[in-house]
Amino acid sequence: MLVATTRRVSLIRSLGRASRHGSYIGLVTRVRPTFKLDQIDSRGRIRHLAQTTSTSKLAKYSSNAYLEFRFSTDPVMASLKPPQLPPTWQHTVEDIERLTTEALAKDKKISDDIVQLPEDQLGFDNLALANTEATFDIAIEPLSFYQNVSTDKAIRDVSTKSEERARKYANQESMREDLYKVKVTAAANLRKTGAWDALSAEQKRLVDKMLLDGKRAGLGVESKEEREKLKRLKDDLSDACLKFTQNFNEENGRISFTREQLDGVPEDVISGYTQRTEGDNVLYEVTFRTPDIFPVFKYANDPKTREAAQQAFDDRLANNVGYLDTALRLRRQIAEILQYDSWADYITEVKMVKSAANAKKFLDGLKAHLDPLGTQERATLLGLKKEVHTKRGLPIDDNLYIWDYRHAHLEIYSSLYYDRLYVERNLDLDDSLVKEYFPVSVVVPAILDIYQNLLGVKFVEITGDARDVWHPEVQQFAVWEMDAKDESGFIGYCYLDLFPREGKYSHAAVWGLLPGYELPEGKRHHPLTAMVANLAKPTPERPALMRHDDVTTFFHEMGHVFHGLLSRTRYSRFHGTAVARDFVEAPSQMLENWCWEPEVLKKMSSHYKTQEPLSDDLIAKIIKSRYVNVGLFYLRQLFFANFDLAVHNNSLDVNTDYTKLWNELREKISLVQGSEDKPGQGTFGHIVGGYDAGYYGYTYSLVFAADMYATVFKKAPLDPALGRLYRDKILFVGGSRDDMDSLKDFLGREPDPKAFINEIERDGNGDAARASNL
Ligand SMILES: [Zn+2]
Repeated sequence: MLVATTRRVSLIRSLGRASRHGSYIGLVTRVRPTFKLDQIDSRGRIRHLAQTTSTSKLAKYSSNAYLEFRFSTDPVMASLKPPQLPPTWQHTVEDIERLTTEALAKDKKISDDIVQLPEDQLGFDNLALANTEATFDIAIEPLSFYQNVSTDKAIRDVSTKSEERARKYANQESMREDLYKVKVTAAANLRKTGAWDALSAEQKRLVDKMLLDGKRAGLGVESKEEREKLKRLKDDLSDACLKFTQNFNEENGRISFTREQLDGVPEDVISGYTQRTEGDNVLYEVTFRTPDIFPVFKYANDPKTREAAQQAFDDRLANNVGYLDTALRLRRQIAEILQYDSWADYITEVKMVKSAANAKKFLDGLKAHLDPLGTQERATLLGLKKEVHTKRGLPIDDNLYIWDYRHAHLEIYSSLYYDRLYVERNLDLDDSLVKEYFPVSVVVPAILDIYQNLLGVKFVEITGDARDVWHPEVQQFAVWEMDAKDESGFIGYCYLDLFPREGKYSHAAVWGLLPGYELPEGKRHHPLTAMVANLAKPTPERPALMRHDDVTTFFHEMGHVFHGLLSRTRYSRFHGTAVARDFVEAPSQMLENWCWEPEVLKKMSSHYKTQEPLSDDLIAKIIKSRYVNVGLFYLRQLFFANFDLAVHNNSLDVNTDYTKLWNELREKISLVQGSEDKPGQGTFGHIVGGYDAGYYGYTYSLVFAADMYATVFKKAPLDPALGRLYRDKILFVGGSRDDMDSLKDFLGREPDPKAFINEIERDGNGDAARASNL
């Protein structure tokens, strides 16, 4: 499933400065949203299907809900005064309109003035425009943030408008030829005068990146005719993608089954289907929405039912095939005008992976490692299938079909028919029991505490008159170095907005609302990050509890918070999470590992009645559940990534039948058989939704995350010395150098996918594969 547009957009902002630099597209902070509205657990462990935590259901419990915890306030720290005041959150509709207008006008004046300067006066200072960019973001980001958190619809609306105006303006500016010329001339002057050599590495990088932005936007295309053609192609591309997405969002097909065909599907799911009568038969209409169709994949005992559902599901967006063909053709033409070998090369140029060839090499290497594991898992599931088919008197063949075992694009919908059976047999883990050990009031402070110690920082809550927040439930913190003695130890501000309410952003995400950077007079501008989440609220019967999955998500998101706080770059453009998009998730993915460490799980857990931490037995089960059948899961991820990369590569014939390619690759890579070819590529929303030639990034960053964890932290996950290393080598530098350099610096060597493979093999169920020679 594709992440909702709002989420994507908000993450664009959460990732910082991107909007000013041409190609900007967000990415999921995590494959699983905090709250699953579809009631399907990622590992088939929840048997209490009614226990959904959707915002609407929570509303009725929200009467007395409020944070039950407070952070202890260190008196010395509390007496320190941050050198920078936090922003106010008391804006009116008029304020937001006026401040947006002012910010745009101010920014435009600076650009307009620069292009008037005589050519020989252009140098680094006016080329960089770096602090102008920061000032613009500082003005705009908080204003466009209100749309996610304000309880006032008028504020939310004007905030959305503010963001649209800013985005439109930034797009126009990024396409200004006169500004691009200024940058090119300034860069040439730098070289000519020798001033280039005096620049720091970060300054050189800034110049290079700014010129590259212009080149990638097409401003370097010499012929006016070609530039105009480029603009037309881009418009057509955005139309094709928009239509694909519209179809995707508006899809409302369905498939009907009889009661008998639905045998195995839980009663409460069936009772939710619309019924209709056809002749003597009562038919149940199953829409292709996940809460409807996925229980069929997961529970329907009749393989014919699952097959029919699968085929219809893959065929549901056949009307997108033409739009995808168009988009791919246009991308080829655009890449050609911009003088790239392929769209995939164009896209990957600004990623950590650098080229389409490198991305392919990565996928092939990982596939070689995953094949034995997937083959073993397939054999296990096939054994289970034979057993079931024998018992039911069903025909037996040697195939594991996609409707026997399938994963959707994202982990959230994993664990279908035989995978579920396997889990039920081999893992006796009750998610709702685990949840009782994770009250919000224990977990959140425990996680902050872990981070504080690990990274050597201190959170001091701002209370009383000084507190200024957008909603009473929000907590505001000044973040200091642990040993701060004076204002030089100030790091920045952090806001936690953790509980659901009407009109609020409905997933978990982190916004870098203010960047950190060096002010002209040598002082620093300090960052501000805000975490917005939707943790469960308390009920009359029990306190707010988190599932283990929610705990992991929270830990992950806090990782982004610290990336945004602890970066110390000279320019805001490189601050914090402003790293390559195929690396930005790696630090937080690495940090998720803490939630699978027995020592840490003990620290974070406390049963809401007995105050006992999780037992060793439960911890062992949680850990065991992590990598069940993940070999097949990741092979399926590799299928998506390979398809995505293949169709954006010019070595593929321009007249390729993408339906055929989709089905061929699926069978070949994900080790599950299909039947008659259906145009599943029409359902692959990522490819038009900002992940084009980027799907590989999901596994790419995971592999680095595993390597970082295994190489550095595994031996002592809570050791502050290792935390310091992480701060210095990864967080501190942000995007101010190549991410690969940061990673190598942190690891002390080249990255290696072995750690990832070792990890999933050790804890997974691929016993035989463990013996494979890696
Ligand atoms: Zn993330």
